[in-house]
Amino acid sequence: MKVLKFGGGCLKDAGAIKKIPSILKQYDKNTIIVISAFGKLTNFLEEISSKKPIDFSKAKILFKQIMHELSFNQEDSDKILHDVKPLDPSLAAILSIGELVSSKILSKHLQNQSIQHVLINAIDIIKTSNKGINAPVNWKETQRTSQIIKTLMDQNSEKTILTQGFISSYSKDGERSITCLGREGSDYSAAILGSVFNVDEVILFKDVDGIYSSDPKINNDAELFSELSYDQAFALCEQGNTVIHPKTIAPLKEKSIPLIIKNFNNLDLPGTVIS
Ligand code: ASP
Ligand code: MG
Repeated sequence: MKVLKFGGGCLKDAGAIKKIPSILKQYDKNTIIVISAFGKLTNFLEEISSKKPIDFSKAKILFKQIMHELSFNQEDSDKILHDVKPLDPSLAAILSIGELVSSKILSKHLQNQSIQHVLINAIDIIKTSNKGINAPVNWKETQRTSQIIKTLMDQNSEKTILTQGFISSYSKDGERSITCLGREGSDYSAAILGSVFNVDEVILFKDVDGIYSSDPKINNDAELFSELSYDQAFALCEQGNTVIHPKTIAPLKEKSIPLIIKNFNNLDLPGTVIS
């Protein structure tokens, strides 16, 4: 089993969604697809969250345009737009809209392409031990929920899971709240799922060729690393390299699960392998 994570940097438009089925064909069905929000949508949701009532119209226009380009029928499109509202009044619930909607759009597109999968909300898998948008993972609970899903998947012929990055949930006294794993945290989601599902690799599709020694946009002789150790990758994060979220490394290092960074826009490149 592998985790394939598609980051916001590559999810710029409907074209990006159209490209995903061809990528999935290169892997067997035993995959967990993790999807981020489109582009910089989470920043936008954060901006509008403080003005009450919140005006989601600009986000809805973006989703509508994407669904139109994907030739969704009116009914499917209206249903997805109808759900563009937070499940509770917290900031976490408002920010989670980005990932919830992109996962619904990808799921509908895969369905329209007859690509079998199950959409499982990350709030039913990744559990945190607190509320908030930067909540710590409750590993014990996350192990437990993932075990339930594993058992269900084993009984099912369907092996492809689609879920969201960044979002999670916190339960107390029978009440459940949406939480988030920290801004830019969907790499971390991929690593958490990789760890609890014991996958053989985690692949992060991004809008860069891989990890460089320095910023290639500023520095002409920046070196692209084809391989790095977990410790080398972590040291680069500490030095300010932002290609991967620093929390991504530890759960994978612990289980010796390789992490691969690939360019979504240039899939022939080998990328960077961290192992
Ligand atoms: N969409 C979330 C954010 O921008 C998570 C992510 O993209 O990694 O913070
Ligand atoms: Mg994002």
